[in-house]
Amino acid sequence: MAKLRAVVLGARFGGLATVSWLRRLKFAAELEVIVVDRWQETVYRPALVQAMALGPAFRVSSMNMPLARFWRQHRVEAVQDTIVGVDPERREVFTASSPPISYDVLFVATGSEPAWDGILGLGPHRGGVCEGYQARHAARLNESWQGGHFVFATGPILGSPNWDPPVAVGCEPPLWESALLFEHRLRQTGHRQASNLTVLTPGSEVAEAAGPQTRQRLKRLLVSRGIRILTGVRFQEVTDREIVLADQRIPYDRALWIPPCQGSSWAQSSGISDRQGWIPTDHYLNHPEFPAIYAVGDVISHSWPKNGHAAMVQARVAVHHWQAKIRGGRTPAPYRPELLWILDLGGGQGLFSLGDTFYGGHREVLVPGRSPYWAKHLFQAAYIATRGALPIMP
Ligand SMILES: Cc1cc2nc3c(=O)[nH]c(=O)nc-3n(C[C@H](O)[C@H](O)[C@H](O)COP(=O)(O)OP(=O)(O)OC[C@H]3O[C@@H](n4cnc5c(N)ncnc54)[C@H](O)[C@@H]3O)c2cc1C
Repeated sequence: MAKLRAVVLGARFGGLATVSWLRRLKFAAELEVIVVDRWQETVYRPALVQAMALGPAFRVSSMNMPLARFWRQHRVEAVQDTIVGVDPERREVFTASSPPISYDVLFVATGSEPAWDGILGLGPHRGGVCEGYQARHAARLNESWQGGHFVFATGPILGSPNWDPPVAVGCEPPLWESALLFEHRLRQTGHRQASNLTVLTPGSEVAEAAGPQTRQRLKRLLVSRGIRILTGVRFQEVTDREIVLADQRIPYDRALWIPPCQGSSWAQSSGISDRQGWIPTDHYLNHPEFPAIYAVGDVISHSWPKNGHAAMVQARVAVHHWQAKIRGGRTPAPYRPELLWILDLGGGQGLFSLGDTFYGGHREVLVPGRSPYWAKHLFQAAYIATRGALPIMP
């Protein structure tokens, strides 16, 4: 009997979790799994903010995750290529240099893309930590920092006007963690007095999608550590010396940017996404027009949390929904958006926050202290060791 072919696009949080769940299905032996990504190895992105804490000890290589062994263990055919399109009617994926890849089911996890040109004068050269090369460069520059004005800024998310609730920014943890970790490092290296730190966000408040307790706590913490916060900013231009906002100019000596973000550009020409490249889904992560397509993680067209935890939970719901559809049995509970963060605050302190109030729920759990710090670092070690195929998955 011919095997069913599951094709997974993208091999970070969403794609790796999808593979893990596919290989845990009862009928996994009847599945052929193909993963397409442009990289042979991936990086554990939440750890890249350590560039702002560690100085010369920062090594991107310790966060890299070569995938060849993982693919062998999970019986995956890995295609290293650039995805350029999908024909949802013929069920085919097009890449830059391989023949079309047909599928019975397609899981899209290609994430969001930086939209550097969304702000005049902005580019990766302005500083950042979102990719390995940027974090490595930031760590090197930190070694020679003697003082001045350091600005941490996040660009807006170029979302769909139909998102409910609307959001102004994408993933916030790297913004807050970078500022707090750097502030702690400055105190350790004796450069705090000579440094002014400012955070700029288009969000109407600090941590816009978190619950009220988290927002208050984080704001208090930033203020107590002398970090100036400007919310609701509208960026107009970035030059070598100034960030021009709609109502003022911010001079700076160095900056760290979380870039504006948009959906996957390859999806825009495939007729499966909205105009910004975000892929619509229902609460089972299933495409409303093409039943053989699921999308998980940052790429989906919702204001649901765009973070690693959400991508992993969505992968579980999507795979089990597909299983129920083709094999019968119980349909899984639909995905319910919930924000889970563990922030590294520096100095061995962390902040765990779990909540759904932004999405209409009533739950908020907040745990500050050393235990969230250790939980974050243990999760990181386990994730890197298993490539996200954790014994207990969220
Ligand atoms: C610095 C930083 C810190 C973060 N910290 C946290 C944190 O503390 N906690 C948390 O939960 N989340 C955190 N996040 C967010 C988290 O990393 C993302 O939400 C998560 O990576 C999204 O996973 P994804 O699989 O949806 O997409 P992505 O991680 O963006 O992966 C997409 C994959 O698709 C591939 N791809 C895309 N387009 C193509 C193409 N055309 N051809 C071939 N391959 C393609 C890419 O190469 C990539 O491997 C952080 C992010 C950053 C940048």
